[in-house]
Amino acid sequence: MAATSIAEEIAVIRGTTSTPNDSERNYADAVTKRITRWLTELNIAYRVLDDNAVSADTLTGISTIILGYNPKLPRHEMITLANFAGRGGKFIVFYSSDHELANLLNMKLGNYVSAETGGRWSLMRFLESAPPGLPATIIQESRNIRPAYPANGKSKIMAVWEDASGKSSEAPAWVQSSRGFWMSHILQDDGDTENKKQMLLALTAHCAPGIWPAVNAHHMITSSVLPGYPDFPCTIKGIISHALGTQSESRARVLVDRASAAYLEARQLFDDKQHQKSVEKCRILSSLLAEAYACIQPQAPAKFRGVWEQTGIGLYPGNWSRTCKIVADNGFTDILPNFLMSGIAHYNSRIIPASNSLRLYGDQLAQCLEAAHKNGLRVHVWKGCWRLDYAPDELIRKFSSENRLMISDSGKSNNWLCPSHPDNLRHEKDTIREILQNYPVDGIQLDFIRFKDSRTCFCQGCKKRFETDTGQKVRKWPIPINAEGRREFNRWRCAQITRLVRDVRAITREMRPKCLLSAAVYANYPSVADSIAQDWGNWLKDDLVDFVCPMDYIQNTVQFSNTVQKQLALPSAADRIYPGIGVTASESRLTPIQTMDQITIVSRSGAKGFALFDLDRFLEKEVLPLLHLSATPSP
Ligand SMILES: [Zn+2]
Repeated sequence: MAATSIAEEIAVIRGTTSTPNDSERNYADAVTKRITRWLTELNIAYRVLDDNAVSADTLTGISTIILGYNPKLPRHEMITLANFAGRGGKFIVFYSSDHELANLLNMKLGNYVSAETGGRWSLMRFLESAPPGLPATIIQESRNIRPAYPANGKSKIMAVWEDASGKSSEAPAWVQSSRGFWMSHILQDDGDTENKKQMLLALTAHCAPGIWPAVNAHHMITSSVLPGYPDFPCTIKGIISHALGTQSESRARVLVDRASAAYLEARQLFDDKQHQKSVEKCRILSSLLAEAYACIQPQAPAKFRGVWEQTGIGLYPGNWSRTCKIVADNGFTDILPNFLMSGIAHYNSRIIPASNSLRLYGDQLAQCLEAAHKNGLRVHVWKGCWRLDYAPDELIRKFSSENRLMISDSGKSNNWLCPSHPDNLRHEKDTIREILQNYPVDGIQLDFIRFKDSRTCFCQGCKKRFETDTGQKVRKWPIPINAEGRREFNRWRCAQITRLVRDVRAITREMRPKCLLSAAVYANYPSVADSIAQDWGNWLKDDLVDFVCPMDYIQNTVQFSNTVQKQLALPSAADRIYPGIGVTASESRLTPIQTMDQITIVSRSGAKGFALFDLDRFLEKEVLPLLHLSATPSP
């Protein structure tokens, strides 16, 4: 990478001795990796130093320090940083609880605040007075913050938080002083990546203008070439040749003309060493090319264009009409919101405890159904099976006292219900009956329809029921005794999970015959049948589900393509596999262009549908409008 060819001016300090324990250290390490990955992608040279390696010596040549997550600095490090500041050194600080560090930057640290539900701090909006080159907003859903405030008349607020409804909060998101910048939370990897990188660049370049030439040169290349093309002229030719004779031709031509003009201007500004302006032009060029690329995509399968919604309250909490309209207007047909786990529900249930969201915003399933049906969208209830996340403690204690939780081979208890326990099976089925009874749902999608992992469940109940069902005595528990024993045990485990699928199939057919049944499943079949008892190939073969959405959350396009083809080749699968695309998954984070590429792969594979993970502000603003240009036209 060219980054190594220029002198480093930037040091990223990895939180080690500034963190209180191992898990925080791991967290600090992950944050450091994220920031340095983005610096690398921007072509900014940096060095990484652990807290304990910070010294006058190791900071030689450094003009700017980035503290990604360093909650409480040790005394000697604080002294070194104070000396560094005294020599004119600058700081970019994300979330620290160090009062002295805040003082050093001429700021005053406020209190730690956390939110019960999402949606309180959803977006950072930069003020007009902020340094040039920053994006207008950054989308980030933070559940807790610790703001710094201006102090000593030497600092000012540079950005404020907004909640999910767009209302401004009192709490500063960023404060600026002559010594640098302070954000009230860490920088998360939860989407809006390009804007986050732009922010990182603007702040870093403000502190260290020497980084511009290398950054600019890199932008000239990356913004002017689309996947599969060697350079700008070929990219332009490629777009036009794809657009020829299609409905999109005139639009593509306009975009290409504008892109060519932007390219020339960026080039000229680069030659004139007006790097910041050139990079801004590159960004315009990049979005023009993305739009042109979007115009030449083939139409995506129209039978099922789904989108998962993780929070169960929509993009705008309590406003399902707005959310459903956005999804439908962008040519999508199905929405899959996560309305329940085994111990918490966002709708009125006599079986499952109410969530905070239900108390705050009312019956989310009822509201979603009404809004979706008005917009011609189908609603599939995304049902988290077995899992007790967010369940009240007393419920978990009750299940535990009744020996109903999954137990690992090491004896550890998990907040998951044991699938072989008859009362748990009944609990899951009763829940589904209640939904079908009370709500006109179009589908039920079973998620986590599996054991937690290959090391669960080894509870005494599983032992007893395995012995009873197979007529054999287990001498050594946990299994395996031998390979044949393990195989038999795996078959039995699969039967426990498949039984719920089969029973739910019977229930939906009886109570609401038009309601579709589906499952979100792991990508690698059949190995997932052995490891976590998720025998989804046989569910399709035996017609226990209408379709499955394999979670093909794979960044690499070729691997993604191979995985989809392997899945479609399974018996009775071709028409009933709607691949899940991980736009904002933790396993894969896709740019709008990568998302288009994966949808195109799905279209060419012959699959009849796909589902995007998941509906957040990034998907809403950056991805869906591009897809709507050609891949997902309105019906
Ligand atoms: Zn068990």
